[in-house]
Amino acid sequence: MKYLVTGGAGFIGSNLCRRLLLEGNSVVCLDDLSTGKFSNISELQTDSSFEFVNHDLTKPFFPDSIDGIFNLACPASPVHYQYNPIRTLKMGTLAMYNVLGMAAKFNVPILQASTSEVYGDPEQHPQSESYWGNVNPIGPRACYDEGKRVAESLCIAYKEHSGVSIRIARIFNTYGPFMDVNDGRVVSNFCVQALSKKPLTIYGSGEQTRSFCYIDDLVTGLILLMNSKLEVPVNLGNPDEFTMIELANKIIEISGISSGYVLNELPVDDPQRRCPNIDLARSKLGWSPSVPLSEGLIHTLGWFKERLNE
Ligand code: UDP
Repeated sequence: MKYLVTGGAGFIGSNLCRRLLLEGNSVVCLDDLSTGKFSNISELQTDSSFEFVNHDLTKPFFPDSIDGIFNLACPASPVHYQYNPIRTLKMGTLAMYNVLGMAAKFNVPILQASTSEVYGDPEQHPQSESYWGNVNPIGPRACYDEGKRVAESLCIAYKEHSGVSIRIARIFNTYGPFMDVNDGRVVSNFCVQALSKKPLTIYGSGEQTRSFCYIDDLVTGLILLMNSKLEVPVNLGNPDEFTMIELANKIIEISGISSGYVLNELPVDDPQRRCPNIDLARSKLGWSPSVPLSEGLIHTLGWFKERLNE
């Protein structure tokens, strides 16, 4: 199969490209390198089944022929998506018309990388796909959250109106190798801070929770979803829930380096609790994560250690 992976030079995208190639597929990796990094995919350039295209998806793209699209193009860390909120909203709107139009033209399935952020600061716990969410439409996270929400609406509209075969993965917090040192998210911040012997920056009280999925588990889920016939949103995440203090302590314990914490202000609209209900993925895809946080953090710390020594 020949897949188009948009955002293919990003953290999740580059891991997905590698796995698709390993499984014998061809990959066209599209990225404008605004947050993705060429170094994430540079070693794939020697593979004749891999092609990199530097393109901004808010402008139309016309590939030769493809058998499926993984649409991952969007800044995803709060620091990055809030840097230029207009551009982030364009990825949820303009770029969506372009990729969905492509899926319609080639009559191929498209998997949309949606997010747990569609649930906002959730009032239901854990979050199941039937929950409509609690999103502030005018807050600092709105450019991402509402962009991803309208992107889901566009997928449904193209399915209903144009018969496009859609998959919607609601991706919860994910971590692992190929995360950027300057990504700004909690796992990368804590790992880089610990390895640099700097205090870990805990926002707010540190009692807020997240559920962290190791990248290899997530990529398995994305491919299973693409190969399924499920045309409804599906949560993909690890249901093991941790407070940020617990996460900090794990990273200190595994790295063996402790330089303490500093408490910073909690960002506006920061969700207090987040944990996926993955019953749907379990029952329809036979998927559940297998890598516990402690094991995933060992690989992730190893990845950041190498980056910091370069
Ligand atoms: N966070 C933190 N320290 C950091 C970065 C983030 O305590 O250096 C907290 C943040 O306030 C949030 C959680 O970690 O409650 C996860 O934040 P992240 O930016 O990784 O992703 P989010 O799930 O909020 O999109």
